[in-house]
Amino acid sequence: MARKTIIAGNWKMNLLPADGEELVAELNEQVEIKENLEVVICPQMALVPLALDWIYDSVIQLGAQNCAEKLSGAFTGETSPELLKVLGCRYCLVGHSERRSLYGETDELVGRKTQALLNMGITPIVCVGESLAQRESGDHFTTIDTQISVVFSQLDQTAWTRLVFAYEPIWAIGTGKTATPGQAVEIHQHIRNKIKEIAGHVVANATSILYGGSANAANAADLLGESEIDGLLVGGASLKAKDFSQIIASF
Ligand code: PEP
Repeated sequence: MARKTIIAGNWKMNLLPADGEELVAELNEQVEIKENLEVVICPQMALVPLALDWIYDSVIQLGAQNCAEKLSGAFTGETSPELLKVLGCRYCLVGHSERRSLYGETDELVGRKTQALLNMGITPIVCVGESLAQRESGDHFTTIDTQISVVFSQLDQTAWTRLVFAYEPIWAIGTGKTATPGQAVEIHQHIRNKIKEIAGHVVANATSILYGGSANAANAADLLGESEIDGLLVGGASLKAKDFSQIIASF
């Protein structure tokens, strides 16, 4: 079975309700759904319940940017995966590099959040990727191997086939420097081989691996043209309807 292609917009901490509503209204007009393609928007948390209305009757799916590792309790400021489920989120980003670097999220925590999402039937988009220093010192493969194997170590085996990964080289996020399709493919193949080593070829072949890092309307077709790249995680360019819909149209 062909792997699903996912094009997800990470709005980060941007857009107020009126802007979000306008953006989604434009996307609803411009985005055409295609077989095997999922289009997802990931607004900041307080916009999620509003966004559920905006995407009513639309081809666009809803995702969140982060969640707690627990479902309820004394965790001030956190958001339960159970609440995300009730609010209509089909997807949730986990381990985005901004969460790792600014909020100290470890690989273990990312793994536990991933399992919590899977328990609620939400598809986690697990972000992995190396810093510029790690790439320059040749440590990018081992960095990514550790990120992946620690996540798997926290998961029930029954959940293995429901994971999505996003390869996001930190040096490409929000910098305008995109990995070349060749660089992305090299890492995507490496990630798939690592998954195969841990979970076997059935899981590896079924797992969608997205690319993220300055993806835009000009480079999306080249990236999506690679059979190893099963979609895109888009930050800045997902905030403009014209850009995001052009990215989607390039699939
Ligand atoms: C991201 O934050 O996930 C991302 C890919 O951002 P950008 O597209 O702006 O580089």
